[in-house]
Amino acid sequence: MTELTLRPFFWRPTNLFPETRLVSRTHDGIVESSYGEFGERVRSLLAALADRGFGHGNRIGTFGWNHHRHLEAYYAAPLSGAQLHTINVQLGDEDIVYIVDDATDDILFVDPGEPFETIERLWSELDVEQLVVMDETVPETEIDVVAYEDLIAEYDPISEDEMPDIEEEYPAGMCYTSGTTGRPKGVEYTHKMIYAHAMMVMTPAGLDISERDVVMPVVPMFHVNSWEFPYAATMAGATQVYPGPSPSAADLLELVEREGVTMTAGVPTVWIDLLEHVDEHGGDLSSLERIVVGGSAAPEEMMRRYDEEFDVTVEHAWGMTETMSIGSVSRPKARMADWDPSRKYEKRRKQGLLSPGLEMRVVDDAGEEVPWDGESAGELWVRGPTVITAYYNRPQADEEDFERGPASDASGTSEDASSSGKWLKTGDIVSVDEDGYIEVVDRAKDVIKSGGEWISSIALENALMANPDVIESAVIGVPHEKWQERPLATVVTAEDADPAEDELHDHLQETLEQPDWWLPDEIRVLERIPKTATGKFDKQGLREKLDVGDDETED
Ligand code: AMP
Repeated sequence: MTELTLRPFFWRPTNLFPETRLVSRTHDGIVESSYGEFGERVRSLLAALADRGFGHGNRIGTFGWNHHRHLEAYYAAPLSGAQLHTINVQLGDEDIVYIVDDATDDILFVDPGEPFETIERLWSELDVEQLVVMDETVPETEIDVVAYEDLIAEYDPISEDEMPDIEEEYPAGMCYTSGTTGRPKGVEYTHKMIYAHAMMVMTPAGLDISERDVVMPVVPMFHVNSWEFPYAATMAGATQVYPGPSPSAADLLELVEREGVTMTAGVPTVWIDLLEHVDEHGGDLSSLERIVVGGSAAPEEMMRRYDEEFDVTVEHAWGMTETMSIGSVSRPKARMADWDPSRKYEKRRKQGLLSPGLEMRVVDDAGEEVPWDGESAGELWVRGPTVITAYYNRPQADEEDFERGPASDASGTSEDASSSGKWLKTGDIVSVDEDGYIEVVDRAKDVIKSGGEWISSIALENALMANPDVIESAVIGVPHEKWQERPLATVVTAEDADPAEDELHDHLQETLEQPDWWLPDEIRVLERIPKTATGKFDKQGLREKLDVGDDETED
């Protein structure tokens, strides 16, 4: 038996689907290629890396958007024996320097334009041996840099037999958690983990990706392996469309129309923007069959609109950097096929059923499992071959974030129990219904606890965003003398809309289906709500902006 490495993920598309198209929007236009060309170019890059002395033991950082060159690096780095470390191009300078240093990256592959300028500006603070700009030529600069196309043109592709031997336990990927507070933490993925996760993502119980699909991964390649599309969709032999640097709604629409995209994936904001764009300018979404939405809760209103107006199914997924992205997907079970749409939305708007290969537990403050009644809430714990059991370089995080399970306790070796028995404590507060559907009630640190009772900021946000006058909403808990914390809602209103606070309050009261004490004490209209580098609401930033203090009261 061979090891579980990324070798077959490269072999299959390049040998079985060499003519299948890879389309990539780059900073200078759309580039069309195929898995055949991809194979040759990856093997040239492997020759270049070997010749320059990079392989097992090295870390290769990438700092770029979704395009064919980045996809090639996704394969060449781990197939050379080295580790691919994808760095978020939207981070602030301090975090970039911290992350490159913490990961001890040896090479950086960087996009031209803004990402290059950022690295150029920070270059003297980075201890990196080789800089490659993912372009045809090098920009004018004082620092030593090679153009990607020159690098691969210099080397003939190595043959498959010449590819280095690699082992399944070699670290193959790395990503830092986005975290809204504290320093980012490194998460490492071995070949075996990526193998397992990409297989899970490819199956019908995962994201169901096949050779027939035209897949457009919008979730950035610097964010948790773009939810594994670069590995799963490539292995499947699907046609792929990579949307390039900071794609706007207009860019995405153009690619959908041009390439007949059938399946795409990204955070809710992207799909809300696309709807708005199509409302305003029109557009043809008829090729689209599915949109996978995750990263934060998918508003039901958005799901309904895609369904009813465009016949596009929105599939709601949940995951974390620590679970290699996708960890659950929500689809009605076969026996629910005859349910009316509203009843199905009750399931579809939840985060769904745990993905195959994982186990879960939902645990209350006392460490007891809560019943699956759709009401009792607790922290979600997960484990499996695609879930990390430690952070890179952070032994101290171990105690807080992981828990040894009874499997290891039962063996009597709890002290040195194997990591496979360990649970990841996700920090997500969830309930599970009788059918096994997970619903994220809140992120532990965003949960609002008023007088000892939970208030879900997500439920308030979704209810506010269901109002046609509201485009975005973020709710935070602010300190309160009597109740410890109370919700404060912020909204960004639609153009031409000017709803009074009372109207929004009444709307919440009518639609929320929760007691009145859930209603926010104040609803403020803002020009914009601060977001983290991955496009989520930055609640810490929002607190600072509103000057309401940091309240992370847990009890
Ligand atoms: P990250 O590691 O940056 O991908 O963030 C992971 C966190 O995002 C999870 O722990 C959840 O709090 C949140 N998250 C991811 N997907 C969803 C979802 N579908 N609904 C609600 N929260 C989500």
